[in-house]
Amino acid sequence: MKDDDTLGAATRVVQAGRRKEWTAGIVSPPVWRASTILYDSIADLRASAGRDTHHRLYYGRRGTPTQWSLADALTSLEPGAEATFLYPSGVAAIAAALLAVLSPSDELLMVDSAYEPTRAMTASLLDRFGITTRFYDPLIGAGIADLIGDRTRAIFMESPGSLTFEVQDVPAIVAVAKARGIVTLLDNTWATPLFFSAIDKGVDYSILAATKYIVGHSDVMLGSVTAAPGRFAALRDTSFQLGQVTSPDDSWLGSRGLRTMAVRLDRHQESALTIARWLQDRAEVAEVLHPALPTCPGHDIWARDFSGSSGLFSFVLNGGGEAARAALIDALELFGIGYSWGGFESLATPVDVGRIRSVARTAFAGPIVRLQIGLEDTADLIADLDRGLARFRATLG
Ligand SMILES: *Cc1c(COP(=O)(O)O)cnc(C)c1O
Repeated sequence: MKDDDTLGAATRVVQAGRRKEWTAGIVSPPVWRASTILYDSIADLRASAGRDTHHRLYYGRRGTPTQWSLADALTSLEPGAEATFLYPSGVAAIAAALLAVLSPSDELLMVDSAYEPTRAMTASLLDRFGITTRFYDPLIGAGIADLIGDRTRAIFMESPGSLTFEVQDVPAIVAVAKARGIVTLLDNTWATPLFFSAIDKGVDYSILAATKYIVGHSDVMLGSVTAAPGRFAALRDTSFQLGQVTSPDDSWLGSRGLRTMAVRLDRHQESALTIARWLQDRAEVAEVLHPALPTCPGHDIWARDFSGSSGLFSFVLNGGGEAARAALIDALELFGIGYSWGGFESLATPVDVGRIRSVARTAFAGPIVRLQIGLEDTADLIADLDRGLARFRATLG
C-alpha cells in the first residue's frame, strides 16, 4: 500500500489499509474470524503477554488483520493521525472517547447541537461518575474561552451540528483549548475525513459513526475514533478495559464500503445541493439548512475549512404544524422513513429541536424535515418531493 497524504481522496480510499501482510496478495483483506489464538509453547504464550498487541495476533478481542486493516485505513485518511480504534457503533465510539479523557469532578463543554444520544450520555452516564457538562452555542467560536473554568477538561464538537447543521469554528475552538491544555473531540460523521481533516486541524479525537458513509449501505453498525499523536494510548487502554471489539465480518463490510466512499460522496454532494437549491425556491419552504448554502449559519466557516458537503441537510417549512409535515413525509414514495443515514437510499425524517436544546437556536418558521439524499436519480427525488409539498399545501387548506 502506498501511504501518502498527497494522494487524492479517491486514491486514498482505494489504497488504504491494504497491507500485503494482511491481504496475502488478495485485493481485499479477507475475513479472519477468531477468539482463540494458538501459541507454540507455554514460553511463547507467556512472552506474548508482555508484548505490545498492536497488529499482533494475541486473543480475538484484540482483533485480527481484518479489523486492523479498516482501522489502519481510517487512520491514513486523517493526515497526521496516530491510530484508530474501532467500535460496534458510533455511540460506542463517542462513549469510549469521553470515558478515555474524563475523570470524576471534570467538566465537559458540549456543543448544544450534538447528536441526541451523545447529549443523553451526559445527564446519565457522565453525571453518575461526577462529571458535569455545560452546553455551548454551536456558533460560539473563540468565545468558548469565556466558558472555560478550572475543572474544564474537554470540549466536544460536532460540525455541522445534528439536525440543524450549524458549522462550528473548529480551528478557533482548538486554539483556545490547546492554550489551556484542554482535550478536543469532534464528531466528524457528516463530513468524513474526506471533506474535513480533523486531526490536521488540531482536533485530538476525530469520531465517526462509520455506520453512515463508511459502511454506506445501511446494513452494518460501526464506529471509530482516530487519535492525534500522543492521544491513542489513553483511548486504547480505556477501550480494552471496556471490552470493545468489532466483528471481523462487520469490519470487512466497513472496508468494502470504504472503497467506494469517495465516488458515493461526490454523488451525495451533487444531488443534495441540487435538491437543496430546488427547495430554496419553493414557497412552502422558509429556510434550507445546508452548510454549502450561504444562508446556513456558519457557511463562511464551511467554505474556509471543508472541501465538500455530504448528502444530509434539513429544511424548514413555511408554517404548518405536525399534521402538515406528516402529510408531506407520508406522501413520499422514494424517501424512506427511518433513523440513520449515509446509505445508498434516500430518507426523510421529522426533526424537533425545541425539547432537546438549551442554548442553540430553537425558533423556526415551521416544522423541520431532514433529508438524506441517496444515490437515486435526482429528477425522481425532486418529483417525489414535489408530490409531498403538494400534499403539505393541501393540508394547510
Ligand atoms: C448516527 C450518528 C451517530 C451514532 O452512530 P451509530 O452508529 O448509530 O451509533 C453519532 N453521531 C452522528 C452525527 C450520527 O448521525
